[in-house]
Amino acid sequence: MTTRTRNNTLAEIAEFLKSLDRVAVTTHIGADGDAIGASAALVRLMQRLGAEAVFCHAEAVPAYLSWLLPDEAMRELPPDHDLLVADTSRADRTGVPVPEAGAKLNIDHHEDNPLYAEYNLVSPRAAATAEIVADLYAELEVPIDEPAAEALYVGLRTDTGGFTFRNISPRAHELVADLLRAGVVPAEVNERINRRGSIEQLRIVGISLANAVQYGKALISTVENSDYERAGATEIESKESIDQLRSVAGVDVVAHLREVPGGTKGSLRSETVDVGEIARRFGGGGHKLAAGYTTLRRPEEAKEELLAELEGVLDLGGER
Ligand code: AMP
Ligand code: MN
Ligand code: MN
Repeated sequence: MTTRTRNNTLAEIAEFLKSLDRVAVTTHIGADGDAIGASAALVRLMQRLGAEAVFCHAEAVPAYLSWLLPDEAMRELPPDHDLLVADTSRADRTGVPVPEAGAKLNIDHHEDNPLYAEYNLVSPRAAATAEIVADLYAELEVPIDEPAAEALYVGLRTDTGGFTFRNISPRAHELVADLLRAGVVPAEVNERINRRGSIEQLRIVGISLANAVQYGKALISTVENSDYERAGATEIESKESIDQLRSVAGVDVVAHLREVPGGTKGSLRSETVDVGEIARRFGGGGHKLAAGYTTLRRPEEAKEELLAELEGVLDLGGER
């Protein structure tokens, strides 16, 4: 494997993309709006450059995002295609297994990305990977058409919590203005990505909020299988509650611990504490202010395990 452990420049990546004939784009497992948005825009960019380009992901693409892709996703990496990976901090989290020869391109904004591909374009200052893909359109002088603009907009919008998180910059807002000029109608995108929930999802979000317990400057919600059964919902739907958990005053770290087969998936959010570092202690990772991990423990024990780590980091109010 010819791994270069260095970050490339935008110009180098633009030149490299022009040299490719047949590519497959993938993204991280558990794909979110930036994962699919950035990937869809990258597939479209490669097509505009004259390459054959497909998106592939072994998991089903969430229905609220699948409309961004030009074609239905392939479930496996097709033969003789160069693999381009978007928004994925580690090579073991890709939507399809990386072939022996390695990934050709790693385009991402996670600060803990170890530059695992032959070519790497990792920019932690970007609010979303979509922002970096937009830079490539500009560098290659490919105009952003309406479908690409919608994909980039969804990436930016979802990774910034609707343009409210600390990762948002004036530049990102300038890009959004360009995307609106290219035809994006925010209200229509909102309708498509946010107003497609179910009563079951609403119920599991309610249960997740009701299960929240405050420990000084930490707020932790646990949800388990019996909660999903009661609501008729799935574990992933319970995570929708995480932004509402952040509304409690005086809380510095919010954790959502949901039971999954074989253990618990933890999602951590903060405005001030490096939760990426905490997630890495459990073998996970992510951004400084938004990170995740999986532990073999059940939610209640996972909460104790997490509180023990948080003890040295913030004031837990002495309630334990
Ligand atoms: P989540 O809480 O699942 O929305 O993830 C928040 C951030 O942490 C995202 O950027 C994920 O890519 C990252 N992340 C979540 N789980 C893991 C994990 N097990 N290992 C590495 N990064 C993760
Ligand atoms: Mn993502
Ligand atoms: Mn992202």
